[in-house]
Amino acid sequence: MLETIDYQSLFAELGLDAATHNGNHVCPFCGMKAFTPYRDNGVARCHSCGWGGNAINLVAKVKSVDNDEAFAALVKMYNLKLIALKPKTRKDAIGQLANDLDFLASVRLHFAFYKSERMGAAHYQRRSG
Ligand SMILES: [Zn+2]
Repeated sequence: MLETIDYQSLFAELGLDAATHNGNHVCPFCGMKAFTPYRDNGVARCHSCGWGGNAINLVAKVKSVDNDEAFAALVKMYNLKLIALKPKTRKDAIGQLANDLDFLASVRLHFAFYKSERMGAAHYQRRSG
């Protein structure tokens, strides 16, 4: 999770300036455009004040909480985002359930029809002698 974190959206979530300048963010600690996320390992470093760490460390320092609380905050942020991506209304849920029931009904019909004693392989074997 931390390797794939998008610092731009994280900055936005934290209420920080999410704009990038040649790939750098404005460092929340020193204000210089020197905060560089490294996508390959998920860490970031400020080349001005020297701050370095991962998303947990960043959230912890920005929110002045410990790493456990920062991690919990991150999980909450990103879970909420996932749920927000696929809102499901009661109507959608009932529609989905109706589709599932229709499918189950057609499966039952299929088996009742094609797998019944009369329509099964044994039936045709008997009929063809
Ligand atoms: Zn800095």
